[in-house]
Amino acid sequence: MASYRFAKRPSSGDAIAFEKGVLSVPGNPVIPFVEGDGTGPDIWRASVRVFDAALKKAYGSERKVSWMKVYAGEESHAVTGEWLPQETLDAFTEFRVSIKGPLSTPVGGGIRSLNVTLRQVLDLYACIRPVRYFEGVGNPMKEPEKLDVVIFRENTEDVYAGIEWKAGSREAEEIADLLRTKYGAEIRAGSALGIKPMSEFGSKRLVKMAMQYALANGRKSLTLVHKGNIMKYTEGAFRDWGYEVAASDFKGQFCTEADLSKGGNASRADCLVVKDRIADAMFQQLLLRPDEYDVIATPNLNGDYLSDAAAAQVGGLGLAPGGNVGDGVAVFEATHGTAPKYANLDKINPGSVILSGVMMFEYMGWKEAGELIVRGLEAAIKSKRVTYDLARQMPGATEVSTSAFGDEIIKGMGA
Ligand code: NAP
Repeated sequence: MASYRFAKRPSSGDAIAFEKGVLSVPGNPVIPFVEGDGTGPDIWRASVRVFDAALKKAYGSERKVSWMKVYAGEESHAVTGEWLPQETLDAFTEFRVSIKGPLSTPVGGGIRSLNVTLRQVLDLYACIRPVRYFEGVGNPMKEPEKLDVVIFRENTEDVYAGIEWKAGSREAEEIADLLRTKYGAEIRAGSALGIKPMSEFGSKRLVKMAMQYALANGRKSLTLVHKGNIMKYTEGAFRDWGYEVAASDFKGQFCTEADLSKGGNASRADCLVVKDRIADAMFQQLLLRPDEYDVIATPNLNGDYLSDAAAAQVGGLGLAPGGNVGDGVAVFEATHGTAPKYANLDKINPGSVILSGVMMFEYMGWKEAGELIVRGLEAAIKSKRVTYDLARQMPGATEVSTSAFGDEIIKGMGA
């Protein structure tokens, strides 16, 4: 058991365990949380009330969470002198499932990005972003309800691995020279260089997690999104490794588009269809034929762009949750930033953290609590008593504060 200097272990509650690839969740788990910077504390106050109300309504006294405040970001720097203290990483590892608000990236500080560091240190290799429409939310589409996807974005490799060199630096010149002389590469003088590592191991474990999710949740298809027509040995390999891991680990549990076109036994109407699309075409497809897509697995950069573009189709990031998940360790988080200009105004939309909590409860197998929160949120939006960002897109809506929106969600759970 780790010891904590700044965080306080709750007096009751147990750690979630992970044995033989399966989470074992006690009735009273300890869940660490980071409030986050800027608007984070406003959002957390509303969110935790919603979580506790849903747990109480779903399970009475049988299940509850002991929340454990841990430090990261600006508050951490003020309290502990560090942006991301080791004890916070220890808590995320010991208790396995955590939730965090947005963190500002220190400008000129010694750490590149707290979020990126967290993902790398804890090996949270999948960034999972479900995107669905909530009736009544302003959006740019004619039929926004047709989009209902879950994006699994590889979180540790690709051009985001941070291996790059400044134009004119000694390293960039040396590596460019090696590539020119040894491998005949044509690289303009004075170029900046970046490396795009993508491994069989990293690609396969991501696709495997997406396949498991698709099968466990009765989803209709899994699409591998890649740019393999141009980047054949990285993105093209991602596609090939994706099909390979489906064939080796999920034999008989899926079919491909090629199987379907051949007809016969392989074209079962109920099979999970594994297909692939080139990334640029996929952006069009999600706009024009969104209901043909379901679970998506994709490398880091494609996934980053695609997640935000998809969220825009259903009304933006205010209601877009996320989870960073590894093997037996997961950190759920808001997908938006700290929106510092609204800090302490009790104004901002807590929906992203609240829906990240829904993902967290689903991950723990506490589906009933998640369903209640979604029901509450749907009812709150229907009542048109919403935070400013939703109100400005909804004719006839009444703007309410962050905390009042939390109350509306809690009220909506009983409806
Ligand atoms: P941001 O904090 O996401 O805010 C940009 C704008 O998005 C806000 O001004 C607001 O737009 C809207 N918005 C964001 N969250 C909202 C919410 N919950 N409800 C309603 N509207 C919301 O982006 P930023 O200003 O570029 O970044 C600020 C800081 O956050 C930076 O330090 C950045 O590094 C960090 N960041 C952290 C994360 C993370 O922790 N996961 C992610 C992204 C950025 P309007 O003013 O138009 O209403």
